[in-house]
Amino acid sequence: MQRRPGFPARLDGRQGPSAPAAASATRAGRGAAAPAPVPQGLGLDSAAVRARMVQRLAASGITAAPVLQAMGTVERHRFVDTALVNQAYEDTSLPIGLGQTISKPSVVARMTELLLGAECARAAGLGRVLEIGTGCGYQAAVLARLAREVYTIERLRALHEKARDYLRPLRLANVHLILGDGMLGYAAGAPYAGIISAAGGESLPQQWCDQLAMGGRLVAPLAGGGGRQVLLVVDKTPQGLKQSVLEAVHFVPLKSGIA
Ligand code: SAH
Repeated sequence: MQRRPGFPARLDGRQGPSAPAAASATRAGRGAAAPAPVPQGLGLDSAAVRARMVQRLAASGITAAPVLQAMGTVERHRFVDTALVNQAYEDTSLPIGLGQTISKPSVVARMTELLLGAECARAAGLGRVLEIGTGCGYQAAVLARLAREVYTIERLRALHEKARDYLRPLRLANVHLILGDGMLGYAAGAPYAGIISAAGGESLPQQWCDQLAMGGRLVAPLAGGGGRQVLLVVDKTPQGLKQSVLEAVHFVPLKSGIA
């Protein structure tokens, strides 16, 4: 039954915790208040702020210890513009330029946890992973701590370069940054134990399913009708592709070509 999964006809009224309205309300509230001063030496002080973020993630249902550990290690404030550093550990997406955003921590943690649930990752850990939509490179840095190799592809040259600059000081030898159209996947690194997309399309590109290893898992947002998106999990099994539709999400659109 190797058929291409279609998108769900309806959402069954289920709505995830990451409704976009909640995120923008947080930002609007912040905007009204006087801007907080940038803490001095945030690089050192951020550990406590990050630990609180991890506590909130655990309280909200993230249970995989390796995911919580990775989220506690990667300094999210290094992946946003200086003016946004104070919001780096809030559970909100933030602009990274060119109309794109850094995903909110709860979504990064959730998708990463789902990826770790891939059948082929259970015994031997997560092998090669493909991320579609590098953006500023934050999710890739989190994945680098959990997967053997991370291939991350971005279609916007300026963001690809920004991610390279942000990631360079972290010296993550297992992260491979690619400038290209992730709608085609990245055949050179296939097969992947996990594929994760940070951008949502109308349908799943066939290449993503083709490039998934047996026992591998794909986690991606997908159009769910009425302008909404849902989180989709696709497992490649000997019996074919098995898909599960999870909560509503809000990701930037998946676009084709390089710009
Ligand atoms: N992974 C990022 C989120 C980036 S937002 C994080 O860690 O927060 C999603 C990104 O997907 C955007 O930068 C957008 O340019 C990119 N994108 C959209 N369509 C794409 C495609 N076909 N190939 C590669 N990247 C794509």
